[in-house]
Amino acid sequence: MSTWQGRNVTVAGLGVSGVSAARALAGLGAAVTVVDGGDGETHRARAAELADAGIAVRLGDAETLPEGTDLVVTSPGWKPTSPLFAAAAAAGVDVVGDVEIAWRLRGPGAAPWLAITGTNGKTTTTQMLASILTAAGLRTAAVGNIGTPIVDVVLEGDDAYDVLAVELSSYQLHWAPSLRAHSAAVLNLAPDHLDWHGSMEAYAADKGRIYEGNQVACVYNVDATDKPSTEDLVREADVEEGCRAIGFTLNAPAPSQLGVVDGILVDRAFVPDRQKQAQELAEVADVRPPAPHNIANALAAAGLARAYGVPATAVREGLRAFRPDAHRIEHVADVDGVAYIDDSKATNTHATQASLAAYESIVWIAGGLAKGATFDELVAGAAGRLRGVVLIGADRALIREALARHAPEVPVVDLDRTDTGAMSEAVRQAARLARPGDTVLMAPACASMDMFTNYNERGDAFAAAVRELGASA
Ligand code: ADP
Repeated sequence: MSTWQGRNVTVAGLGVSGVSAARALAGLGAAVTVVDGGDGETHRARAAELADAGIAVRLGDAETLPEGTDLVVTSPGWKPTSPLFAAAAAAGVDVVGDVEIAWRLRGPGAAPWLAITGTNGKTTTTQMLASILTAAGLRTAAVGNIGTPIVDVVLEGDDAYDVLAVELSSYQLHWAPSLRAHSAAVLNLAPDHLDWHGSMEAYAADKGRIYEGNQVACVYNVDATDKPSTEDLVREADVEEGCRAIGFTLNAPAPSQLGVVDGILVDRAFVPDRQKQAQELAEVADVRPPAPHNIANALAAAGLARAYGVPATAVREGLRAFRPDAHRIEHVADVDGVAYIDDSKATNTHATQASLAAYESIVWIAGGLAKGATFDELVAGAAGRLRGVVLIGADRALIREALARHAPEVPVVDLDRTDTGAMSEAVRQAARLARPGDTVLMAPACASMDMFTNYNERGDAFAAAVRELGASA
């Protein structure tokens, strides 16, 4: 009999992961109730579907704990301070996330997890890793905060995959206490989602959980030295005996590191004689796009793959086969000798800093919803490379003020409109400021919801505006 038989599970949130967890646990015999604060049309339609599967749904109340609950499974977005969790704590009931459920549902022979987190680059690195593992002939999938819900993937059975590339957000890690990865990487750590976690320390601690119980390697970023560093998190983790700390760097690697020498990605960690040898993995040009932060992503993915025993040739092949998702430093077109790049996914300053560092002379399109961010450091660091700036969106004054402080010479166009034509106007203004050889970079450092449904729509609007410009050139 399944250990879930007859258990009273409350699932918090009627989103994709909540629905997947609810169905899985009901299928294993649990008595499942899904609760959600909303009660609009979409919610009711989903509730009706779940009712058909014998799952109770309570809409319009996200706060009270249903009578008799013995486990709460939460969706990642719910804040730890949600009243439902206080009620659970008062009743002595555990709260976990869908990743924890997936972990507990694995059988003894299930595929090990190679896990990835970080403030930026998670999706890209996870996909690179899956591509490398595939090139090595392994059956794998990129899962977690991406693709098919992880519970569904685990329920495909222990034999379905050899190894999984798992992207984990800080929220998912917070709610996955017993997860133990084969190996894991924290790509970088910059303030983000602090409203959810409460403090930078709490955010870092949740990210650091990914290293707990690692068996073979804890992969960290040698070049990211801000405190707490990813190396600090490795040091604090309780790992299996023999598990190694493996660094990645854009410089020449020390022993037990992967790094770059003369345009070649090299491994000095997983080689027979660690003191002397370096194994060539790939060339910088094999990584798309070959921007510095993305080389770092490739090294982290390679580190995890090598920890799993993948040969160097598969790293090269996997990186060559990898294609980044849309809106991540995507080259849209060249018009009149100017390159137009869509990095709409750069929704925070850390991501934008990375893409601004990748080009020499830039007309920068920025702005949107700042989510409490400040822009002084970002602007000061990029000032020397800015040909001009076009500002859009609700919080553009914050960026304008930072520009006035740190880059007063740089021409700024401040677009005071948020209608659908605003992006076309922004692109036209950027084109006016740009000279041949420049890059127009739409990397807004802000969320998009003031003007667009999401970052995809913002990126599509940019690409359409560039095409318009090309047609009239
Ligand atoms: P995530 O899944 O962590 O959001 P993505 O791979 O989707 O990460 O990339 C998000 C944004 O961060 C993109 O704008 C991308 O250009 C930028 N980015 C990717 N990798 C890094 C990195 N290692 N450091 C800083 N920024 C990065």
